[in-house]
Amino acid sequence: MIRQVVLYGHPTLRQKAQPIPLDDPFLDELLNDLWETMYNAEGIGLAAPQIAQPWRAFVVDASPLLEGSSFKETFINPQILGTGNTQQPYEEGCLSIPTIKEKIYRSTRIRIRYYDANRTPQEKTFEGIIARVIQHEYDHLEGKLIIDYLSPLRRQLLRPTLLKIRKGQIKTLYPTLAYAR
Ligand code: ZN
Repeated sequence: MIRQVVLYGHPTLRQKAQPIPLDDPFLDELLNDLWETMYNAEGIGLAAPQIAQPWRAFVVDASPLLEGSSFKETFINPQILGTGNTQQPYEEGCLSIPTIKEKIYRSTRIRIRYYDANRTPQEKTFEGIIARVIQHEYDHLEGKLIIDYLSPLRRQLLRPTLLKIRKGQIKTLYPTLAYAR
């Protein structure tokens, strides 16, 4: 089912998400909702807190950003084991903070342990844009958002836009849920 994407200002985005039991009967429905909601919004990743579900799960389909290859994966109860020392900047957006795009520095390589959609344990290294998208979604499980990486001055400049987002005054092509009215 396509769910509403919760917008900046919604408390779920600031909570630390909890591990979800692998045999939870709700888990498959949660994953299906994440995929449907992400594709409907033309996103490349979506984390459970973004549909107001405080669980440690996210989905990624970075294929639109990859030339000649694809990457699609489900991450359940992920744990980042390590990040490389090299960081690179890239303009990131977030479905929960529509219209804002900011240059964010992230590690170019990560090591992560997780369960995939079959509940099979995985431990893998990812690089480049895939590593970036995974770090962005992982941040959502920790209650962290891209604006947290910005300087106080930059955040100050974005305040009017953030206020509009909080109030649901920004138009999006996908259903959203604002917390403050
Ligand atoms: Zn996001």
